[in-house]
Amino acid sequence: MKEYATQPRRIENLNILVQYASPIRYTPIRHTNTVQSLPISFSTVYFNLRMSTIVEEEPYAAAVSGAHLKNVCSNCFLRNDEKPLQRCSRCKVVSYCSSSCQKKDWGIHKDECVFLVSVSPNIPRSTARLMARLLIRKHRGDDVSVKGFNGRCFDDLMHHSDEIQSSGEHLELFSSLVHGLKQYITEEFMVEPTELLRCFGRMTINCFGITGDDQITVGEGVYLGLSVLDHSCAPDAFVRFRGRTAILRSPVVGQKFGNELTIPYTNLDTLSSERRSALERQYFFKCTCKVCMNTERDGYARSLQCDICMKGVCLVLDSSTVLTCVTCGAVNPTPVDEAMRMSQHIEWQLEKQKDNKNDVVRNLYSDVALFKKYSVILSRFNLPLAALAYRIVNLALSLDRRDIAQSHAFFYLDAYKRYLPVGHPLLTYCFLTASMAASFEQPESIRVLSLLEETRQACLLSHGPRDPECVNVDRQVSLYRTRLHNICPDFPA
Ligand SMILES: [Zn+2]
Ligand SMILES: [Zn+2]
Ligand SMILES: [Zn+2]
Ligand SMILES: [Zn+2]
Repeated sequence: MKEYATQPRRIENLNILVQYASPIRYTPIRHTNTVQSLPISFSTVYFNLRMSTIVEEEPYAAAVSGAHLKNVCSNCFLRNDEKPLQRCSRCKVVSYCSSSCQKKDWGIHKDECVFLVSVSPNIPRSTARLMARLLIRKHRGDDVSVKGFNGRCFDDLMHHSDEIQSSGEHLELFSSLVHGLKQYITEEFMVEPTELLRCFGRMTINCFGITGDDQITVGEGVYLGLSVLDHSCAPDAFVRFRGRTAILRSPVVGQKFGNELTIPYTNLDTLSSERRSALERQYFFKCTCKVCMNTERDGYARSLQCDICMKGVCLVLDSSTVLTCVTCGAVNPTPVDEAMRMSQHIEWQLEKQKDNKNDVVRNLYSDVALFKKYSVILSRFNLPLAALAYRIVNLALSLDRRDIAQSHAFFYLDAYKRYLPVGHPLLTYCFLTASMAASFEQPESIRVLSLLEETRQACLLSHGPRDPECVNVDRQVSLYRTRLHNICPDFPA
């Protein structure tokens, strides 16, 4: 079964590149009974934009995460849930999609395989396996001889070992890693402590979470060239993955790779305070970008809907003493601290259920109940509420509960469009998920067709026209047009 998209990763997971989850707003569902009604305004922003692929890069070293060792190929990182992959017959830990992939990985795995056999039946965490792969490469001198597309080698990467030494959290991670490594790798691959700390720093600071198109992280990898790029919460480039291949795309046409491009290191569908502390904890810098300095953004992310005009929202800011509608100016009777608590309540639920994946059906029902409760109070830009709706749709689709998926499909895109930059791969995935869920709606409607067309534009930007995902959306759009034409022959096929 498909997992629902997850929340931002914690530092232990060493994920730079985010994984994502989240959300829209609930208004009582109005069924569009005729194709004339068009409740969703079609965004034109996409039509004026172009994005192009600037560079593609293979990892210097990568490791499949523990949960995916059986369904993700340890060489190409493509995921296959249908047919079992072939496991390495010696260690029985790593799997491959073909014997050609197995051969290509053998150069590194032949040493790793010995380590894995020696600790069997235990399987070290992906962080330790990635570290071991880095040490294997170092042992061969690859850390100075193998160069990325821009000439950087592993030894050139930043390590921030001074900051690590003064951070209790990082040091703790480091010592538990060293403890595990000592049992895992053979002595000849071990390096002296200072060098080991630098290697750890280079790995933690420069490692990308390798995500599938569904934004589920399947592994971690170090990319020598791309790791030069700095972070911005208003980035001008994005990294997504095709298997283990990292693809850098930017909205600037004809753009060449340059160090001035920025990418997001962390989830952008978050409050500034959360994002800034995550960045500081993992990467040792304080983000002072315009997005982080914009307090209004966070006010929207926790906003309530106005119960007078019904269209406006009441921003919930740390400095608010009373909640006022930005549209009609009416004062909302809800006290500020209560408004804050509502968003927090949802955040707790989002967090809590991450650790309890056993009873997914019960999780789904409790999410639906919570959503119902708050969707009449919180606004369509409220981020926790949107995250909840998004999780409901993902979970409902994975359980084939089309009714639930369909009825929540339109309730998270307003928020995600507000907080995620155009061209962000997560935004495309939000659209793809909403489209899939909405297409179960009966009867067919123009609002679903509009959503599909907007999805196509988003996909065109983030993935490019030749990507299979984009080709698939194209097909869905024309199939849906035909369905609409069949129930309403006036509608052009
Ligand atoms: Zn493969
Ligand atoms: Zn093996
Ligand atoms: Zn920022
Ligand atoms: Zn109002």
